[in-house]
Amino acid sequence: MEFVDSNKINKKEKKYYQAKLESMLSELLQGSGETVQEMKSTNQEFPDPTDRANYESERNTTLRIRDRERKLIKKIRSAMVRLEESTYNICEECGDYIRKQRLDARPVTTLCINCKEIEEQKEKTQQI
Ligand SMILES: [Zn+2]
Repeated sequence: MEFVDSNKINKKEKKYYQAKLESMLSELLQGSGETVQEMKSTNQEFPDPTDRANYESERNTTLRIRDRERKLIKKIRSAMVRLEESTYNICEECGDYIRKQRLDARPVTTLCINCKEIEEQKEKTQQI
């Protein structure tokens, strides 16, 4: 059990992840603000139906991106809460520690690599 302590997030690391999550969040919030602006300022008159179709598909893409952004913002916020509660690097599925290497690459993850693989496996079989 001597490795358990090294999996715990120390103060310095906590600050590091906090900063990382905060910068992700502010980037996202800035980005989505721009998208809203764009959508509002677009003129809705389309003499050419192709333009209209293009606009619609662009709009759908924008909405999809916005939806993804919203979900990510939620994930980041809950990651911040978990960081405060010191459950940040604990896998939601199995309660094991999530490797710091993995958190570094995916700061909003709630699953350890094993559980993530199982989940992805499930998603694949559901798609078929
Ligand atoms: Zn797990």
